[in-house]
Amino acid sequence: MSEPSVFTRILNGEIPAEIVAQTDRAFVIRDIAPQAPVHLLVIPKTADYRDVVELAAGDPGLLAEIVELAGAVAAEHADGDFRLVFNTGADAGQTVFHVHAHVLAGGLTEGTTHG
Ligand code: 5GP
Repeated sequence: MSEPSVFTRILNGEIPAEIVAQTDRAFVIRDIAPQAPVHLLVIPKTADYRDVVELAAGDPGLLAEIVELAGAVAAEHADGDFRLVFNTGADAGQTVFHVHAHVLAGGLTEGTTHG
């Protein structure tokens, strides 16, 4: 067995973090190192999927729930507009291999990633 991920440890209360929203299958925390005025992480409770490609193949319904929850927290914590980022693979900056969506919101008109 590999070590539990940092997100599993947060879910189990072993690492402190405020859970700002949750459903039966996913939860939301604030990123410890925010890259935007609002930077939330939407995380499946299961650690079965390393990244969004595995999640999409293994449980597309859960991926849809992640996107829906991202929209809900973006509406609650910002104006509802948001960027959704899944870093996928170490070379793309992924550091935690328990799939999670970054919700970036609040004043993102500077420095867009689409050129
Ligand atoms: P990745 O780099 O894998 O796409 O994203 C992992 C994210 O988890 C990073 O943005 C990092 O700041 C965040 N993170 C890592 N450890 C913790 C922690 O203990 N608490 C919280 N709230 N966020 C964390």
